[in-house]
Amino acid sequence: MVIEDNKVVYVHYTLNESTAEGQLIESTKGAEPLVFIFGVGMMIPDFEANLKGLQPGDTFAFGIPAANAYGEYDETILTEVPKSMFEDEGKIPEGLLEIGNSLPLQDQDGNRFQGMVAEVGLDKVKLDFNHPMAGLDLFFTGHIESIRDAEPEELAHGHVHGAGGHMH
Ligand SMILES: [Zn+2]
Repeated sequence: MVIEDNKVVYVHYTLNESTAEGQLIESTKGAEPLVFIFGVGMMIPDFEANLKGLQPGDTFAFGIPAANAYGEYDETILTEVPKSMFEDEGKIPEGLLEIGNSLPLQDQDGNRFQGMVAEVGLDKVKLDFNHPMAGLDLFFTGHIESIRDAEPEELAHGHVHGAGGHMH
């Protein structure tokens, strides 16, 4: 069996910045493999393009430039908001507005999103809405653990069921 559309793929990978020797971003080493349905838009398209046709046991090593991964870093989407936005009964919870913290936010339509604290001023705080991996060139190494057919129910839901997926 090879990797193609509608197969469930179990893959162990290590993600570094720019090259295989670059700064470690994340790895499934010593943990459960990543599991996903191939070809249903769950993954970065370039990631899937590099795995297509591989078989269990095959290894891979490839880079994806930032623009094709999580996008270039965009300075213009840093936004200043009043600190008072985060007050709870007139007080800002201790430790909330620290640089690097991810804050759960909501827009007028009730959509939830995250903003990272980039700068804290006297009465304003600057939030960064870039994806945490924006601006990073990615480099993946790893191997294919196993492949199976997706169940019709998994395809209908658009996600994997069982170990490493949804439990329902
Ligand atoms: Zn489901």
